[in-house]
Amino acid sequence: MGQVYIIHFSQRLSNRARHYVGFVYGDSLADVKHRFREHVTGQKNGAKIIKAALAAGISLKITRIYHAVDMDIEKRIKRQKNTWKHCPVCRLERAQGKQLKIKFSPL
Ligand SMILES: [Zn+2]
Repeated sequence: MGQVYIIHFSQRLSNRARHYVGFVYGDSLADVKHRFREHVTGQKNGAKIIKAALAAGISLKITRIYHAVDMDIEKRIKRQKNTWKHCPVCRLERAQGKQLKIKFSPL
């Protein structure tokens, strides 16, 4: 058992995804933070996409953590190809986008 975390990118990296989904063993927030630090500093198996995002000046944020889950959840989220649905920042952006459309549509 462990935790699945979703890292949200402030911008899309070229045509690639806007999130990174990862898994870490352990059940405390410190485990996720530690893994995040490894990614950001490029230590021990830091993901290439994260390195590239940082090099492009994109900022990163952990927006969702699923606790007490196994690695299958990470795989399932990746397979679904709609990670934004798991990300509160993206859900809010989409909801606001819809509201704006309604507000400004001609009567
Ligand atoms: Zn997001």
